[in-house]
Amino acid sequence: MADKALYTFERSDALMDRARRAVPSGIYGHQSPALLTPGSYPSFLARGEGCRIWDVDGNEYIDFMCSYGPIVLGHRHPRVEEVVRKQLGQADCQNLPGEAWVELAELLAEITPWAGWVAFAKNGSDVTTWSLAVARAYTGRDKVIMAADAYHGIGAWCTPGKAGITPSEKADILTFVYNDLNDLRRVVAENRGAVAGVILTPFRHEAFHNSEMPNPGFLQGVRKICDEEGLVFILDDVRAGFRLNLNGSGEYFGFQPDITCYCKAIANGYPLAAGLGREELRAAAEVVFFTGSFWTAVTPMVAAKATIEVLRDEGGIAQMDAMGRRFREGLDQQARSLGLAITQSGPPAIPFMSFVNDAAFERNRLFCGECARRGVFLHPHHNWFLSAAHRERDIDEALVATEAGFKAVKSQFGG
Ligand code: PMP
Repeated sequence: MADKALYTFERSDALMDRARRAVPSGIYGHQSPALLTPGSYPSFLARGEGCRIWDVDGNEYIDFMCSYGPIVLGHRHPRVEEVVRKQLGQADCQNLPGEAWVELAELLAEITPWAGWVAFAKNGSDVTTWSLAVARAYTGRDKVIMAADAYHGIGAWCTPGKAGITPSEKADILTFVYNDLNDLRRVVAENRGAVAGVILTPFRHEAFHNSEMPNPGFLQGVRKICDEEGLVFILDDVRAGFRLNLNGSGEYFGFQPDITCYCKAIANGYPLAAGLGREELRAAAEVVFFTGSFWTAVTPMVAAKATIEVLRDEGGIAQMDAMGRRFREGLDQQARSLGLAITQSGPPAIPFMSFVNDAAFERNRLFCGECARRGVFLHPHHNWFLSAAHRERDIDEALVATEAGFKAVKSQFGG
């Protein structure tokens, strides 16, 4: 098949020139195009439908980033859009919450076997930071243990950024090596009586790193240590939630936390975060001050309710798993037939691929850039996301572009 014309980005580039003057860095944070392959990606998007997105130059992509997670059913899923439209015709942000505040909390507690109550906010960082406060209020202790290099958001206690953060803001955070129970036991023993809880993502998925699944028994071992030492076990399910198991990633990996933090995929792109807790933690959650200007807005809550119902009714999680496997198999075959050594990591619905001996991600930047210029939106050093809108034909179409990407790596790097 002849290669289709490669994309160009005139309008994106012109907007980016203006953005650089109007906004610090133009676009900051994880969506900065500086983190992608220069010249091969757009900087601004215009619209989305299902698993397809279009940039401001009109280029179309099969979307394997899903807005870095939030789009779990596909862009503009009709059942979600319908309840959103209806709600916007009434009101969104008001003096008091709407009925959906109660209905959604009941639904989340119902589908999560161990949870007694639910609190709402907007961003993942809101709930991860709040979860530490609840653990501290419950235990009367200050310190919290996290895995070294894990990403839990932009709270001063956990941000990977250094500028503007004082050492005192991280003083109560202790780290251990993910998947190493002995290291966790060591940190707990060295701080006995001072540790409120442990916060972990269900698998290791930070950027610039292959994903790392929990070793058999690791999460269960963390649970046991928390029980023995009276620590609150916090699951940061912001990135993986609603992609692995509708009842939470604890169910997928076979353990039950004390608090779960949800955000990204909960409302198919509408802004909402939720913290779920065990009944014993209710009194602590009641005394932690927790609020925000937009936190009771109704639209994201009706969107979340519809998103969860559609995922359940239409088997969305199994669909993402199946399409993730199909994509992974296709990539594997292509790399093997070209003699390229790759590593595929993470669960099929939240996959990542990197090249062996590519510590600086140079091969992956070329590979993903070549895919982007052929209409497939991947990321060179952040995990990818499937949505329930991906179908076999989308995966197979994407594999045409990835083949060209692999060939470009072969011709530039030789292997
Ligand atoms: N925890 C994890 C595991 C995340 O992936 C993220 C976002 N990437 C956060 C917390 C923070 O969420 P937010 O960006 O919505 O504040």
